[in-house]
Amino acid sequence: MKTIGLIGGMSWESSLEYYRLVNEGVKARLGGYHSARCVMVSVDFAEIEAFQRSGEWDQAARVLVAAACALERSGADCVVLCTNTMHLVAESIQSAVEIPFLHIADATAEKICKAGIRRIGLLGTRFTMEEDFYKQRLADRFGLEVLIPDKDQRDLIHRVIYDELVMGIILEDSRRAFQSIIASLIDKGAQAIILGCTEIGLLIKPGDSPVPLFDTTLIHAEAAVNFCLAGDYPNP
Ligand code: GLU
Repeated sequence: MKTIGLIGGMSWESSLEYYRLVNEGVKARLGGYHSARCVMVSVDFAEIEAFQRSGEWDQAARVLVAAACALERSGADCVVLCTNTMHLVAESIQSAVEIPFLHIADATAEKICKAGIRRIGLLGTRFTMEEDFYKQRLADRFGLEVLIPDKDQRDLIHRVIYDELVMGIILEDSRRAFQSIIASLIDKGAQAIILGCTEIGLLIKPGDSPVPLFDTTLIHAEAAVNFCLAGDYPNP
């Protein structure tokens, strides 16, 4: 078994999920007392959030590059960045280490393509929904057509993520608001929805949507398990 390297803390509410999921994934595959070999470097989200807000992406990249290098020195065999948004600086992280970087959008897009879906709705932070680093990758590398919510809906999603979900607050009103945003994306032609923020799965469950949900936290953690068991054990 290889060692999974996790960069967490963005937020720790979802890092907890990653830790649980990689351990459950390894146990499901190997049984018995097996658990995932992993190392996590967890950053202070207040520092990262301030850099996001001020648009100082180079400063955020500096913190995450240091985290990735620490993982590599600790013996991790891969880097799993436990947030969609900070994939905005994925290239800086990837080029700073020798070990593979498991990109969250690639793992998600592979699943979507396997399901035969071409037109997909994307929910995430304002950065993930509006900047090119995520949508463009899905379009250019995987041929997906990505639909995003309207401006007022994007503002609502962003506010719920930062004021509620990363603080561990789960509200029924917000669940209903997300459901109506999902419904309007379906009206625009979305065949399925990407939960493109690692905390949205804490609020929205498969039964909350009439179309399939691609939860990036579940998919990314599964990709990490497949990576750490590849070679030694056949992947399903
Ligand atoms: N975890 C979130 C994401 O997947 C948002 C928090 C952050 O900005 O890192 O995008």
